[in-house]
Amino acid sequence: MLSLLFAMGETHYAIFYIVQFTEISKTHLISIAHKGFIKGYKADDRNLWQIGKCMKGAFFVAFINCVFPCNFAAMQAVIRNIIQETPSVRRLELVFSDLTIFEFQAGQFVVIRFGELPEGNNERSYSISSAPEHSNRIEICVVLNPGGALTPLLWNKSVGDTLEISEAKGTFCLPEKCDTEIAFICTGTGVAPFRSMLHYLLYNQKYAQKLYLIFGNRTKKDILYEQEFEALAKEFPNFYFIPVLSRQENWDGEKGYVHEVYESIFSDKRDARFYVCGWQAMCTEARQRLKAMGYNRRQYFFEEYG
Ligand SMILES: Cc1cc2nc3c(=O)[nH]c(=O)nc-3n(C[C@H](O)[C@H](O)[C@H](O)COP(=O)(O)OP(=O)(O)OC[C@H]3O[C@@H](n4cnc5c(N)ncnc54)[C@H](O)[C@@H]3O)c2cc1C
Repeated sequence: MLSLLFAMGETHYAIFYIVQFTEISKTHLISIAHKGFIKGYKADDRNLWQIGKCMKGAFFVAFINCVFPCNFAAMQAVIRNIIQETPSVRRLELVFSDLTIFEFQAGQFVVIRFGELPEGNNERSYSISSAPEHSNRIEICVVLNPGGALTPLLWNKSVGDTLEISEAKGTFCLPEKCDTEIAFICTGTGVAPFRSMLHYLLYNQKYAQKLYLIFGNRTKKDILYEQEFEALAKEFPNFYFIPVLSRQENWDGEKGYVHEVYESIFSDKRDARFYVCGWQAMCTEARQRLKAMGYNRRQYFFEEYG
């Protein structure tokens, strides 16, 4: 099979077969393919060869995900700390005691499985809110859905309990380089992947352009990581933290919903990238509004929670 693929010039697939048998992390490979896709596209979108290359990259990612779906890796993580961040959101610090490093990219998520729930409805995804730091710990933020199947069980867990968790998944990640401003748009726990990305970008001085975090919540007490983002905005002059509240009395900041805020900041329709994360209704509206502003699929990216 391998020699046939090489003979056909299908190096991507040949490499994939090697990976299958050598157990290199599939997440790693997907993220490499994803980076290649973005780089290829950015280099020159009128260049047919580049387009061909990025189509191949995209097809490769789809091929890995669909034909060979990632199996649940079933790693065990111990809950090392639980912080009640807001009335309805908990931060969970998880440690993979069997690993020295848990590999992931800023923006990715993990899947938690509860074996006691019926098969087919026992897995839920959670974005990693901590930055990649070459350690065996990650952090996630979970909002309680009192009528939900999994979050009430997760809220019954205590420090020292173990959870069954997948390897890192997803392609909602940043390109290696970016020469435009970036707006991170989110509501509630949708901020999680952006906390990871912002820590990674700011502390590693990755992008010099302006980075906006446009973060919607109902009231001030719902703002996750508020003090931390305020401190980052003071420390890094290219980072702008813009909380937007819909139901807060006596609030001098932005009022209403996130959409009016990015529409106002980018009213001149200048080149920019938009990363949007949260529940479906917000993402759908953002997609429509960004499109109406004249932005396209190479400029906006979405992670929908459900
Ligand atoms: C890629 C990805 C990353 C995610 N990351 C996070 C994360 O970082 N933090 C997090 O809390 N959740 C995250 N989620 C959502 C999470 O996977 C679960 O859907 C959520 O925790 C509810 O699980 P449940 O079993 O308690 O509720 P379910 O029984 O699955 O919920 C039933 C219904 O309620 C809706 N719902 C649940 N909670 C809300 C809410 N707060 N607002 C609006 N609708 C809601 C769901 O869409 C569903 O239709 C993510 C989802 C995806 C796909």
